[in-house]
Amino acid sequence: MTIQWNGFLEVDAIEALYGQAILAVRDVSLKVEEGKIVALLGANGAGKTTTLKAISNLLGPERGKVSKGRILWQGQPVSNLSAARLVAHGVVQVLEGRHCFQQLTVEENILAGGFVKKPGGTELRRSLEQVYEWFPRLREKRHTKAGLTSGGEQQMVAIGRALMTKPRLVLLDEPSMGLAPIIVQEIFEIIRTLNRQSGTSFLLAEQNANLALRYADYAYILENGRVVLSGTAAELRERQDMHDFYLGGAKAAKPN
Ligand code: ATP
Repeated sequence: MTIQWNGFLEVDAIEALYGQAILAVRDVSLKVEEGKIVALLGANGAGKTTTLKAISNLLGPERGKVSKGRILWQGQPVSNLSAARLVAHGVVQVLEGRHCFQQLTVEENILAGGFVKKPGGTELRRSLEQVYEWFPRLREKRHTKAGLTSGGEQQMVAIGRALMTKPRLVLLDEPSMGLAPIIVQEIFEIIRTLNRQSGTSFLLAEQNANLALRYADYAYILENGRVVLSGTAAELRERQDMHDFYLGGAKAAKPN
């Protein structure tokens, strides 16, 4: 059976280097189909962040580069597009560590994402309202300085800011990092709602495989910069080796 490919995101046999010598990712291929949630799983240092940064052209500032292979966004090589141009083309990355402007209010932080596409005032307000509908907590905290909100709220701000760019694909790096399980669950529920209601696709890097496989359609497991396993989330949940190594076994880096 031939699989119909809609040419959404395609990462084809990439290798990524830091400096001239540190090989962080080798021969990684993956696809994200439109409307799907795809998880990129693996332990610390497996190459998840590097893969996401390779897609959004953010390796340069770290003296990194894609040294082999190619990445196509809707059939077009992303190497021709800066991170900012990619945002305009519908791909946005939420960096690991929920970056917020600590001294700005929650609302100012969210609005900061809206200016990338230079919308008018009405459009900006409408997008902001939409973000508040997805994250009601942020409406309550809208006049609070981001630095004074909880870690979970800051993660929501970072995602909300990215959503202001009206993305078709969100690259989300380790949304669960350092957050209480109940908050992480709330964030993943919002991601699912967003995906179902607005059709936004997600490629999310996660150490917490157990959690990610409950929300993803498809997943790739990275180990030492290589894809060692991939499949639908349902298939992977059933596999014994996933249980041994990632779903509560010795290598599960973080509790759910
Ligand atoms: P984490 O969850 O810790 O972010 P990860 O799976 O995202 O892990 P990467 O951050 O992509 O992994 O790291 C992959 C490899 O690249 C690791 O060996 C790491 O030490 C190395 N690496 C990452 N960033 C840099 C950098 N700026 N300079 C040099 N080496 C780096």
